Amino acid sequence: MGKGNLFRIQSYSIHDGPGIRTTIFLKGCPLHCLWCHNPESQRQAVELLYMENLCQGCGACQYVCPAGAVFPKGYTYVVDREKCRVCGACQEVCRQKARTLVGREATVEDVMEAVKRDEMFYQSSGGGVTVSGGEPLMQPEFTAGIFRACKERGIHTAVETSGYAVRDHMMQALGDADLIFYDLKAMEPGLHQRLTGVSNQVILENLVCLYHEMKKEVVVRIPVVCGCNDSAENFRCTGSFISTELGTDVRVQLLPYHSMGEGKQRQLGWQEEHRIRPPGQEEMEQSKQMLCGFGLSVQIGGSM
Ligand code: SF4
Ligand code: SF4
Repeated sequence: MGKGNLFRIQSYSIHDGPGIRTTIFLKGCPLHCLWCHNPESQRQAVELLYMENLCQGCGACQYVCPAGAVFPKGYTYVVDREKCRVCGACQEVCRQKARTLVGREATVEDVMEAVKRDEMFYQSSGGGVTVSGGEPLMQPEFTAGIFRACKERGIHTAVETSGYAVRDHMMQALGDADLIFYDLKAMEPGLHQRLTGVSNQVILENLVCLYHEMKKEVVVRIPVVCGCNDSAENFRCTGSFISTELGTDVRVQLLPYHSMGEGKQRQLGWQEEHRIRPPGQEEMEQSKQMLCGFGLSVQIGGSM
């Protein structure tokens, strides 16, 4: 069975598919969306999160750091990311939990140990396991291994994906997935490239393949991000694509942007910060109505 990189296993999740679920957050993503709310998922390597607001300036981290990467700044101690070797020594001594390593390697067996502990909740609630990210298709063997092990135990499986992968990897990863949450971020190729760093051509082709050839149950998810993808033109093109290429039976969810990821970008030492306003209820309703005009069944929010 495979192994891969993850950064969190979340029990009792109620937002990632039907019922109570265990969500496995894989680490590593080929997209770099400006609004990413899990920025710690983008790089596959282990990273150091530093929450400066928790630091009480004791200096223990500077004392133990073997790389000379910690230095005082005012009343706190900050990290020189160029020097940091991500060894974790500072995490061990920080009593304030201001420093945390994010990410670890895990086997399918490790994941299934956590899944088995939650299994009784799936049966009573109609839940199961969701693999999220990061991008699950970037680790197709690991994702496929988790799903295969779940199916052997009769557990419902879901995935949250951007769909950005070579076709073979997608088919390998999702053969045993029961439900696919599939992101559509922008339709115009140049806009998609600017917002995410990659072209959307393969994403659109894979979506059609999943739905028509692999016959998967798909929920299309559209993040609504003010000033990025919330133009009337983008919703018209998205509605037209879904209704033409998939038909009007497919479910569509509109997910309003929230700003929780901004603090984490600071904690990871990202130089660039993107301040984006969350959309209001009226803007969400307008977006919904535009898509409904194509005969689609649209809901605001990700509940099932
Ligand atoms: S060990 Fe923790 S509390 Fe102490 S200076 Fe370092 S980050 Fe701050
Ligand atoms: S992770 Fe290691 S190298 Fe990086 S700041 Fe902490 S102690 Fe220093």
